[in-house]
Amino acid sequence: MEENQEKNIVNKVVVVTGGARGIGAEIVKFLAKLGYKVVLNYNKSESYAQDVKKELNNVEIFKADVSKKEEANALIDFAIKKYGKIDVLINNAGIAQTKLFTEITDEDWKNIIDTNLNSAFYCSREAVKNMIHNKSGLIINISSIWGITGASCEVAYSTSKAAINGFTKALAKELGPSNIRVNAIAPGIINTAMNSYLSEDELKNIKEEIPLEKIGDPVDIAKCVKWLIEDNYTTGQIISINGGWIC
Ligand code: NAP
Repeated sequence: MEENQEKNIVNKVVVVTGGARGIGAEIVKFLAKLGYKVVLNYNKSESYAQDVKKELNNVEIFKADVSKKEEANALIDFAIKKYGKIDVLINNAGIAQTKLFTEITDEDWKNIIDTNLNSAFYCSREAVKNMIHNKSGLIINISSIWGITGASCEVAYSTSKAAINGFTKALAKELGPSNIRVNAIAPGIINTAMNSYLSEDELKNIKEEIPLEKIGDPVDIAKCVKWLIEDNYTTGQIISINGGWIC
């Protein structure tokens, strides 16, 4: 790696929500190994967060339920107090639920919208104040292909991710003149605990529908995050990494 590139990475501060497990944990580890300063947010998975921190000395951990405004704000304030700035915010925290539409309760709906959509609003609003001041920044929202196509029995989840896509496009337009880019990554099916409810047979059937005939790995998403950080002309895009499942 060239010296200038290395310096650029070492000086960059990245905040990852839901960074203790699954896709978020892979993003944290991938970027920290490259030298980025990473703030890993966790909510319930403290021991996983501690394990990542033990492994990598440029990772700080912070507990916050980002579906709650005060806790999301506290996370962003922590990163700014610690490092003086945020270069990249990755809104990754998310929950899924499979239910018939008529069985979705008010509480289910609120919980999914608060966790998958409102968290991105709270964290971005707070971080953007700092990014505007710095005239530089990048927000990456982890969306889903279901936000593009809609999924049966996942109406709340699909709605939250479709809203994230709209949020991404609108915010990119507003913040472009401040040199802040906003993009979303919309994964297909990725091998994490989120899909642990699927049986072997169900996974086999899904693989048969995917042109590349395989389930994605969290590192496939981390590599796209790295590319977006290094890039400087991509904004307002929903990049779907899905093995060709939807085109
Ligand atoms: P996962 O393994 O179930 O991990 C979910 C992560 O979200 C955990 O780190 C969890 O943290 C965090 N989280 C949930 N609620 C939170 C809250 N209120 N505050 C802070 N953190 C919270 O799922 P994943 O597959 O890695 O999913 C990550 C993102 O990718 C999600 O937005 C998901 O919708 C999206 N996605 C996943 C797939 C897939 O196939 N896996 C496909 C498309 C999109 P704690 O454990 O600390 O609570």
